[in-house]
Amino acid sequence: MAGDSPGTTRTLDARVWGKSDARPKVYIQAGLHADEMPGILVADHLTEMLDAAEAQGQITGEIWLVPIANPIGLEQWIAHKPQGRQDLTAMRNFNRGFPDLAALAADALEPVLTGSETENLTLIRRAFGEALAALPRGNALADLQLALLTWSHDADYVLDLHCDHQAVLHFYASPARPKDTALLSRATGAKLVLEQEVSGGNAFDEAHTAPWASLRQRFGKSFPIPAGCFSVTLEYRGQNDVSDALATKDAAELMVFLGAIGAVNGQSQPAFEEAPVLPLGGAGEIFAPQGGVVLWRAAPGDWVTKGDIIGEVLDPVTRVRAPVQAVTTGLLFRIELWPSCLRGQSLAHIAGKDVLRAGHLLTD
Ligand SMILES: [Zn+2]
Repeated sequence: MAGDSPGTTRTLDARVWGKSDARPKVYIQAGLHADEMPGILVADHLTEMLDAAEAQGQITGEIWLVPIANPIGLEQWIAHKPQGRQDLTAMRNFNRGFPDLAALAADALEPVLTGSETENLTLIRRAFGEALAALPRGNALADLQLALLTWSHDADYVLDLHCDHQAVLHFYASPARPKDTALLSRATGAKLVLEQEVSGGNAFDEAHTAPWASLRQRFGKSFPIPAGCFSVTLEYRGQNDVSDALATKDAAELMVFLGAIGAVNGQSQPAFEEAPVLPLGGAGEIFAPQGGVVLWRAAPGDWVTKGDIIGEVLDPVTRVRAPVQAVTTGLLFRIELWPSCLRGQSLAHIAGKDVLRAGHLLTD
C-alpha cells in the first residue's frame, strides 16, 4: 500500500488456508486497533494450529487470517506511548467509517435479485465485490479499510479480534444469527455478548452485517435476502492480558469454533456455558465525579446492583473521596486502564438488561 508521504509504502499480509472456493469462508483479523496486543498474539498461536490442521488434512473451509490489520497504527507512537486506536492524521478511529456495502451495491442489485435465497447470497456478494473494486483510492487510511473489506466482504464468518482496557472476554454481535452467537460464546467461554443490529459508525463488524439487514429492509418484501455474514468484534479481555498461556487457550477455543461451523475437522465440541446476551444500549457508562486517583472496590466480571458503590475517586488536594456508583444493575464488564482520571471522564461500563441509550452506541 502506498503511503501518503513520498517514499513510503506499507505491507498488509494475509495468511490463507484451504481452497479458494471452499465454504464456509472465515475471515479473522487482529490489531485493527494497533495498540491492542492480545488478539495479535492469539492470531500468532492460531497460525500454528491452522498449519498443523492443514498438515493433517483437516481444513474443510477457507480461512483467512490477517495478523496485523493496521500497519499504519502500529507505527504511531507519541512520547513513548503507542497510539494505535486513532489515525493521527485526522484523529479518526481506525474502526469506524468502513464503506457502506448496501449503499454502494443496492441499485445494481435491484434488477438482478431472484426468488432464490441461495442465488441472492451469491449475487449480493458479487455485487459487494464489484462495488469495492470500483471505489477510488483515497489516502492510506481509506486504502487500508478498502483492502481489508475487499478480503472479507464475501466471508460467511468475520471475527475482528480486539481488546478493551481492563475487561472480561466479551464480544459484540448483531442479532441476525443467534445460533452462531451461541456457538461462539460456548466455544470461547465469553462472559458477555453485547447485541445490537446497528451500533452506528460502521465499524468493521457492522460493515459485514448491516448491509444484509439494510438490503432486506429495501428488497425483503419481494426477494428473500439472507443474513449472509456472521460478524463480531471479540474483545480479548484487557490491554495487559497478554501471555502465551492465555493466547494458546484462546486460539485453541477459536479452533473449536472453526470446528463447530464446519471450517476445520477433528475439533472438540463447544463446552462452555452460554454467555448472557444483553443489549448494547443497556451498557451503562460511569463517569468520574471528580479528577484524581481511581480506587476500585469491584472488578471486571462482578455482577453489581444499581446504586452500589463500586469504587471512589480521591482528590489528593482536598482529600475528598467521591463515591463511584453503579448506574444500572448488571455485569461490570470493563474499566479504564489508568488509575488516574479527569472530572467527567468515562471510568467503566456495566451491561444491564434495561436499555439506557439509543443512537450512536460506540465510544470513539
Ligand atoms: Zn479495539
